[in-house]
Amino acid sequence: MTTRSDTTTALNRLLAEIEHRNPAQPEFHQAAHEVLETLAPVIAARPEYAEPGLIERLVEPERQVIFRVPWQDDQGRVHVNRGFRVEFNSALGPYKGGLRFHSSVNLGVIKFLGFEQIFKNALTGLGIGGGKGGSDFDPHGRSDAEVMRFCQSFMTELYRHIGEHTDVPAGDIGVGGREIGYLFGQYRRITNRWEAGVLTGKGQGWGGSLIRPEATGYGNVLFAAAMMRERGEDLEGQTAVVSGSGNVAIYTIEKLAALGANAVTCSDSSGYVVDEKGIDLDLLKQIKEVERGRVDAYAKRRGASARFVPGGRVWEVPADIALPSATQNELDEADAETLIRNGVKAVSEGANMPTTPEAVHLLQKAGVAFGPGKAANAGGVAVSALEMAQNHARTSWTAARVEEELTHIMNDIHTTCHETAERYDAPGDYVTGANIAGFERVADAMLAQGVI
Ligand code: NDP
Repeated sequence: MTTRSDTTTALNRLLAEIEHRNPAQPEFHQAAHEVLETLAPVIAARPEYAEPGLIERLVEPERQVIFRVPWQDDQGRVHVNRGFRVEFNSALGPYKGGLRFHSSVNLGVIKFLGFEQIFKNALTGLGIGGGKGGSDFDPHGRSDAEVMRFCQSFMTELYRHIGEHTDVPAGDIGVGGREIGYLFGQYRRITNRWEAGVLTGKGQGWGGSLIRPEATGYGNVLFAAAMMRERGEDLEGQTAVVSGSGNVAIYTIEKLAALGANAVTCSDSSGYVVDEKGIDLDLLKQIKEVERGRVDAYAKRRGASARFVPGGRVWEVPADIALPSATQNELDEADAETLIRNGVKAVSEGANMPTTPEAVHLLQKAGVAFGPGKAANAGGVAVSALEMAQNHARTSWTAARVEEELTHIMNDIHTTCHETAERYDAPGDYVTGANIAGFERVADAMLAQGVI
């Protein structure tokens, strides 16, 4: 019989091998540690999961594509970026996961995101595999024409790897409705097919789902509300700190307001804004979605209630709940200490892996409800899967119907994580619950489908 300690030893050996075989990919190592370190109880309890090669296959992408993306700027200068698509696991359905355009993108970042995506997508219960892609292209300060030429060049290679039954990308950092439009146009031109289900996050007049732009932020707030209910509280009257000011942050702030909570911060890579009266969403949307400006412009235009703190982190502002919604490793141990000192009750991750492992440990030890991204931000990919279903049926659902489905899915994910954690002697530990529940679904499908 395999004991828990034998299993832990075997998993530690595998983690060392992952680091050796995938050098210089710290984010991927971090994501692999975070998942594998919680799996010992389920592998010890269910011997079929200890089958040689199962976990080794799970941590190795099925396919990794790296390609050159040449494009010309408005002055005619040629730039050469690097494109990536990591097709990590398709045991449950076509690869599904966003494209990130940011200067920090490299293979290790895309692999961490793709690995997380496998478990997140499994948790939605919607039959989608895990993948992720992107480029080290930085859209900041680029004209629409430059972004269009870049997207067209990117798709000129990517199109041969994707398809509605194969791999379905969406947006992520730096990729929103504008970029998805240019990418879809080039795909359609090259393939001569109206294949709406090849990309999600499309515009609403041409195959996009209502509530898709809102879904990740709304979903995270619904997950936070479910965690608060477990503690016998709700979001009404709570003060929230939110980081970021992109897609996820904006719709997080919107849903918090709808549920009676007050978000007092937002940020970007230049610093953060704190607004005592609560963030004015119309102004933030105007600056970020229409003008594509920086958050300091918000403080300048808002008046006395708001101030801009250059280079600072939102976590120093006292709050009941914290919703990191910008990027990985943006909330560290010192930030967690500050949040705890200020009495935070719940932290729910809108971004992917925004909280460092040390910070997660501190928060859980202090009794703070902690919702990991692969559960809490799964609303985005869930509504993407609903967009695929609508495309397939050549129909479009009302906003009310999509939001009702989203609410149902987020509550279901919360229940699954909560019950799984209890089943494995880790009550209240959503990290363990999410990892094990996602793992069981993927591992069962992989075992049934043989060694491939
Ligand atoms: P956006 O590009 O719309 O916004 C990103 C925001 O985060 C911007 O305010 C940006 O500021 C800030 N940011 C990005 N990188 C950094 C950095 N290195 N340091 C400080 N600030 C930074 O992206 P999204 O809102 O779509 O994504 C945010 C997070 O949510 C990511 O982790 C993403 O993977 C995750 N996510 C997104 C989903 C979606 O549906 N969009 C689904 C699930 C998860 P600046 O403009 O200055 O760079």
